[in-house]
Amino acid sequence: MCGIVGFIGKDNGVEFLIDGLNSLEYRGYDSCGIAGIVDEKTKVIKTVGRIKNLEELTSEDLVFNIGIGHTRWATHGGVNKTNSHPHQSFNERFTLVHNGVIENFSELKEEFLSDKKMISETDTEVVVQLIEVFAREGLSTKEAFLKTISKLHGSYALCLIDREDADTLYVAKNKSPLLIGLGQNCNYVGSDALAMIKYTNKFLEINDGELVTVKADSVLIEDKNGVKIERSPFTPNIKYGEIDKGVYEHYMIKEINEQAFAMRNIISEYFDGHDVKMDQEIIDAVKEADRLYVIGCGTSYNAGQMSKEYFEKWAGIPTELHLASEFAYNLPLLSKKPMFIFLSQSGETADLRAVLTKLREVNPTYKVLVLTNVDASTLSRESDYTLLLHAGVEIAVASTKAYTSQIAVLSILAYQVAKELGKAPNLDLEKELSVVTTAIESILDDTKEIKELTDKLFTERNAFYIGRGADYYSSCEAALKLKEVSYIQTEGFAGGELKHGTIALIEDNIPVVALITKSEFDLSTRSNVSEVASRGAKTLVITLEKLAKEGDYAIPNVHETLAPIVSIVVTQLFAYYAALGRGLDVDKPRNLAKSVTVE
Ligand code: GLU
Repeated sequence: MCGIVGFIGKDNGVEFLIDGLNSLEYRGYDSCGIAGIVDEKTKVIKTVGRIKNLEELTSEDLVFNIGIGHTRWATHGGVNKTNSHPHQSFNERFTLVHNGVIENFSELKEEFLSDKKMISETDTEVVVQLIEVFAREGLSTKEAFLKTISKLHGSYALCLIDREDADTLYVAKNKSPLLIGLGQNCNYVGSDALAMIKYTNKFLEINDGELVTVKADSVLIEDKNGVKIERSPFTPNIKYGEIDKGVYEHYMIKEINEQAFAMRNIISEYFDGHDVKMDQEIIDAVKEADRLYVIGCGTSYNAGQMSKEYFEKWAGIPTELHLASEFAYNLPLLSKKPMFIFLSQSGETADLRAVLTKLREVNPTYKVLVLTNVDASTLSRESDYTLLLHAGVEIAVASTKAYTSQIAVLSILAYQVAKELGKAPNLDLEKELSVVTTAIESILDDTKEIKELTDKLFTERNAFYIGRGADYYSSCEAALKLKEVSYIQTEGFAGGELKHGTIALIEDNIPVVALITKSEFDLSTRSNVSEVASRGAKTLVITLEKLAKEGDYAIPNVHETLAPIVSIVVTQLFAYYAALGRGLDVDKPRNLAKSVTVE
């Protein structure tokens, strides 16, 4: 989480630092700060809260030809100004921003700094204080930085400045994302390309364990032994305008609206006529597996649940779902020929990177496919295969279009695998996904009823979604979306399960929304709706037009196996309007951050 930026060049970098932090704010927004060297002194400006607070503290005549910046998602130490980054060494010579977690910070403090009283409560501060300790022993800044890094355990993206050398930014990373942006007479550092895309479209990757010395006119990448590494720049597939809110009030509603567009992109990327167009190696790897292990976190995990519908029912391949944070530390018994499918919108999720490391230890020949929205992201680089979601940049912390795109791409992969295994599912997927696209458009075309339903339904502190089969998986995602943006405590339940305990929570006016997109579950789920309605719940059924009864919200008829891609859109809108109605910051819900790069 958190975003870091850096600038060095002949012109003033303050505008870039603030712009870059604004683009990275979705990664963390507890506090923020910038620092730069002016007349051989380091000026640090920091504040609790959003970048707009920082902008207010930044005077127009401030000029930094070298500077760093940070927007924080606190892991160690409370949310206050002292714990905000940048952090300085005791003598104020070194100033540092850090993204990640230094796991051995207490040990390092004990070993090297036991006689010192630290300024902040952060794990980060130990890094900058160690650099000072080693520099005082006579090491150059670069040597002191390298020596410090060699002692760190955990994850970090670091950008350091030295008051005594206003010509150099020192940069390194381990398990946290960081890129160099190449400019004209200047260079940039940022946690992702979005932070820099307004200024450059040429980037240099940095790998874990490398040390990068950035000057206004050069970038030197070295390994830990000082051996120079040559690397060509790359240009990512994003454009500056893509990160604008455009006509929308929030990114979340923009991204909900972009789902039909994303579906169209997916169809054109993965179909050639009615035939699937996908890397044959990926299809073969899945075909050869005796079991699939689909792994994700949060919304991606929920999308993964849906893959059981496709891989098991169409292709007949047993499919297990796992939470990344559990899998990495509690490895399940693996089959003889497992294949792993990772789901990560950002391609940077630390919990998934931990799974990858674990799998490489257990058996380096295991094949890993990642479905991600970000080309050239860390997981994409480190896994064996990548399938891109083609959803366009997703900025709102609550994921919407990445979820529906993940399901669509999983369905296409499973469909082709099933076909090649001689188990062709009885549908023309390309055509049915087009029908899905139109159905999404028709829901989004008029959302007045959904807004009215939101105001009527979600009046309490609690809510439930229920469904069976794929609708149960959708219920989990619908519940997650509502709780993350509106803070209404919401549970997604298997329709038949509520009565085994949780029905005790049902009282007058508690909303229970049932999802029914499969004819076979119509009667049984409606029975569950009656059970809660008789106990005072306010109920609503979201179902296909062909199954709808009076009072239901009807979505257009689509192929039943793909209907969850459509029904979820209604629940995303419920979450959006519920948060809006409560006056909450829809795009940046409290305590959350996008691109979760800490374990
Ligand atoms: N662990 C550091 C802190 O709590 C950095 C957190 C971040 O990545 O924002 O300050």
